[in-house]
Amino acid sequence: MKLLRWISPCLIAAACLHAEPEASRPNLVLIVTDDQGYWDVGFNGSTDIPTPHIDRIAKEGVRFANGYVTYPVCGPSRAGFMTGRYQGRFGFRNNPTLNPTDATAGLPVEEDNIAEVLGRIGYHSGIIGKWHLGTHPRFRPNVQGFDEFYGFVAGGHRYFPADLIYQKIEAVDKRGGWYQTKLRRNDVAVETDEYLTDELSNEAVDFIARNHEEPFFLYVAYNAPHTPMQASQKYLDRFDHIEDPLRKTYAAMVSAVDDGVGRILDELDRLDLAEDTLVFFFSDNGGARNNGSRNDPLSGTKGELLEGGMRVPFAFRWTGQVPAGLDYQPRVSSLDVLGTMAAITAAPIAAERPLDGVNLVPYLRGEIEGEPHDYLFWHMFRRGDMAVRSGDKKLHILGETDDVALYDLGNDVAEADNRIGKESYRAQRLLTELEKWKGELKPDQFPPLGSWDPATDPAPPREE
Ligand code: CA
Repeated sequence: MKLLRWISPCLIAAACLHAEPEASRPNLVLIVTDDQGYWDVGFNGSTDIPTPHIDRIAKEGVRFANGYVTYPVCGPSRAGFMTGRYQGRFGFRNNPTLNPTDATAGLPVEEDNIAEVLGRIGYHSGIIGKWHLGTHPRFRPNVQGFDEFYGFVAGGHRYFPADLIYQKIEAVDKRGGWYQTKLRRNDVAVETDEYLTDELSNEAVDFIARNHEEPFFLYVAYNAPHTPMQASQKYLDRFDHIEDPLRKTYAAMVSAVDDGVGRILDELDRLDLAEDTLVFFFSDNGGARNNGSRNDPLSGTKGELLEGGMRVPFAFRWTGQVPAGLDYQPRVSSLDVLGTMAAITAAPIAAERPLDGVNLVPYLRGEIEGEPHDYLFWHMFRRGDMAVRSGDKKLHILGETDDVALYDLGNDVAEADNRIGKESYRAQRLLTELEKWKGELKPDQFPPLGSWDPATDPAPPREE
């Protein structure tokens, strides 16, 4: 099995000494949590919420101290890592409206996402959990490269089956009702009886068990620990030592995810797939103000371009291929998931839509010196907040006030000491790069989340 997955040009060409690099066909498991705080994994310091299984990924692979997403809220962050491109390049610059009749609000179909890129070279792809990249039928996972979808098309979701009352998003008749649609297997509503996080973990294990004989891409998109704060007693019972009820519920929700991650890793072990599988783990943005998360020692939260908004718990494992227990300090991005996977598999990338992500593996092996990224950029379209990081320096601009700050994150991770007066030449150089990048972005393409009120603007019924 393992040998079949390595497709060497040497097998078919005589000129092996001059052969192109080998392409391989490892599986890819991408596990994403939702609004989890930077501090809230064992490998970043958490003491009150043990995460032994998530920690396993870092212990057997790499912990990224400076792992970033491309936007500090859910939808645009997902559009970024799914395409390996800054989502502003295609105008995905806000959380999209959840109106299922809006054919503009979603991941543009002309962009290639991970499932499409890998699908072209024979991968079988599944998404389990939260989509949040468009609710209109033209944007759904099954028409954007995924062979299997099990989950929900909107953003957050309620966790107990009794709360899931709508057959489909078109039936939602009030704001927030999109948290209460039944789960869907592909495009058919299903009945469930499990706490949502457990249900998604069950599906992830089942996906691996069913598909392990062919190369697969499994995207497990937990909505935990995003609001609403709902945990089952089994997990709450683990946290009698936490008094604050919000933090306690959050801890229980994270612990449920951690159990799921353990089951996924165990299933890979059971099938002897650890060496044939890349595992990425990160949160889609930083901890939110309203879910009891902690981003220590970072400042800021979800929705902000301070570090707490977009520097996230981030780990990677590829057993036997990258060193175990590496604590990697240089800056990496969620964009690098596809950058890494496309390079390893030699999957074609359209020349007119080049990736912003890079292949991390040679950096982690020490084969390439230096940093994966000279610059990382952020821009929040409506508010106008912007940031750029290069090395330890970060320029941060608040759109509403035009306040500009330069931080030296190497010595000031909490962004407390604005050095703009002392290093204005450096700030100017960063601003020049930021403006150049911003000039490559497209305007916002669709109405934002919150613009649809199903009570006054119901979606017309759609055939099952
Ligand atoms: Ca989120």
